[in-house]
Amino acid sequence: MSSPAKSIPMLDLTLQHRRLRAELDAVIAEVVASGRYILGPNVEAFEREVAEFLGAREAVAVASGTDALHLALRAAGVGDGDEVITTCFSFIATATAIRFAGAQPVFVDIDPSTYNLDPEAVQQAITPATRAVLPVHLYGQPAHMGRLQALCNQHGLVLIEDCAQSFGATRGGQMTGTFGDAGCFSFFPTKNLGGMGDGGLVVTNSPKLARHLRKLRNHGSELSGFHDELGYNSRLDELQAAVLRVKLLHVQAFNDERRTIAAHYTRLLAQSAVTAPFEDPEGVHVYHQYTVLSEDRDGAMGRLQEAGVGCAIHYGRPIPHQPLFAGEGPLPSLPVAERIARQCLCLPIYPGLESGDIARVAQLLVHR
Ligand SMILES: *Cc1c(COP(=O)(O)O)cnc(C)c1O
Repeated sequence: MSSPAKSIPMLDLTLQHRRLRAELDAVIAEVVASGRYILGPNVEAFEREVAEFLGAREAVAVASGTDALHLALRAAGVGDGDEVITTCFSFIATATAIRFAGAQPVFVDIDPSTYNLDPEAVQQAITPATRAVLPVHLYGQPAHMGRLQALCNQHGLVLIEDCAQSFGATRGGQMTGTFGDAGCFSFFPTKNLGGMGDGGLVVTNSPKLARHLRKLRNHGSELSGFHDELGYNSRLDELQAAVLRVKLLHVQAFNDERRTIAAHYTRLLAQSAVTAPFEDPEGVHVYHQYTVLSEDRDGAMGRLQEAGVGCAIHYGRPIPHQPLFAGEGPLPSLPVAERIARQCLCLPIYPGLESGDIARVAQLLVHR
């Protein structure tokens, strides 16, 4: 009898960390020895290095991706009574951050090929109360930034990008996060650039916005002991910054590896019953997730699980259908997102995933 095939988890971060072990151990030991743990030299250096990597003038590190969105909205002046048009198909934090800022999320349907915010739908949702547009570069694929920028310019709206899944992704050669007034990143450990705890970042080309963000993240204080605004405690710590500085040096190679894995999957799945993700030729997708569509998702998940292969559903329902946002009335009709929510299935993709693993995962999906 042959031994059972090894299991393939949805995500294994130890593979990536094993490669960087010596570098990570060294910088962590340095921080421990330094006695500086909050807003020290590593945060400062990381902000400089990540701003340069992304091609932004300023970078402000904060405690999470959710805080990055919340504080960016606040710093941009979005608040009570304002409407923010956003995608109905994302992680919940895209929408809760809008609520934290005191504004009202207005959810619109997505583009059926990229699953990103549909600029047509955004245009139709603009009202006199609209203050901002908040696209997400879902799964690591850049949204239609040119058209969104044009709409925002035309209507005088703030444009804030949720780049939690798109670190290093580009469109027309330009990094996501640098198209709008602010770009918001998450360093949650599973993201393409992930720390060993929570973390986030806002990039902007506006020194004024950056200054306001530095104040908001630090108790509303610019000058020690002087507080003239309700601020927050939302800082990246030195340990995370030190880890992220190491990983920033490798993120391009890790993203390339994700793209190679994705291309391999897409080749193998060409004749299968599932639909491989569409790659918009105008952008470089960094495959935070590799997401297929399956008309028999339960069957596909069953076969993967039986074979010890991990998979996940991101996301199983549009955000406005979550009880938190659904309210009392009938659920809004979002035909594209509802179909994607029923059919989407994310497959294992991460640096260190081997080609034999990719072949085995694909094999389970090729036969019905
Ligand atoms: C992860 C994520 C966030 C939130 O980031 P945290 O660091 O977990 O707060 C926001 N938006 C999207 C699209 C995400 O994937």
